Amino acid sequence: DLSTAFCPFPLSGLMSQAIADLGFESPTPVQSAVWNIWASAGEAHPNLMVSSQTGSGKTLAFLLPVIESIEQIRKDVANQRKTAAHSEQGASKRPSGKRRNPFNPRHFVTPQPRALVLCPTRELAQQVSNDAINLVRACKGPRVACLVGGMPYAVQMSRLQNVDLVIATPGRLLDLADSGSLDLTQVKWLVLDEADRMLDLGFAPDLARVDEMTQQRAC
Ligand code: AMP
Repeated sequence: DLSTAFCPFPLSGLMSQAIADLGFESPTPVQSAVWNIWASAGEAHPNLMVSSQTGSGKTLAFLLPVIESIEQIRKDVANQRKTAAHSEQGASKRPSGKRRNPFNPRHFVTPQPRALVLCPTRELAQQVSNDAINLVRACKGPRVACLVGGMPYAVQMSRLQNVDLVIATPGRLLDLADSGSLDLTQVKWLVLDEADRMLDLGFAPDLARVDEMTQQRAC
């Protein structure tokens, strides 16, 4: 079973498929180290500070547990909704299955991501977000959005609709959070990728503000 050979906590079938499709057969040392701690901590979700070189597989080390946890929340929410719909009398109205036009302001609902990855540069954010999209592609569930400077506001807002995982540079993220276009209070997992570089680039005050906005975090 690939799932147990690759990772010490159970992976959803679709995630196992995504890993197999990527051709990954065994975890790298940083992945084993992070996932073993994650698996043995259960619901306690420890804060981790990891130092590992580029090319060592660190991106998957944090993306895999974060996306699996998001998937679990999504399943729980869907089950709660199902139970609620069953118990509601006359709840025969079915969703049309049509996707609402995200550019129509009337359809705008403030996005509430469950997880946030901050990166020092636009290039790194785009790279991490490509890795994340490769993982969720097979799951068809969690939605990923990359928020970096230079993208038109309307496009960015449409990509944020129903987002679960946001990958961003700090400045652009705070622009949207400050204007009320993004609600960070439901963020459970915060990852600071290349944290040392973000501090070198003077992002410390921004990181402190994000920390304050995400006080409900598990880690
Ligand atoms: P990173 O250190 O996150 O930049 O990853 C470096 C490269 O290793 C990326 O191209 C990943 O796709 C690849 N990679 C990550 N995890 C594994 C794995 N378990 N087995 C093989 N390749 C991997």
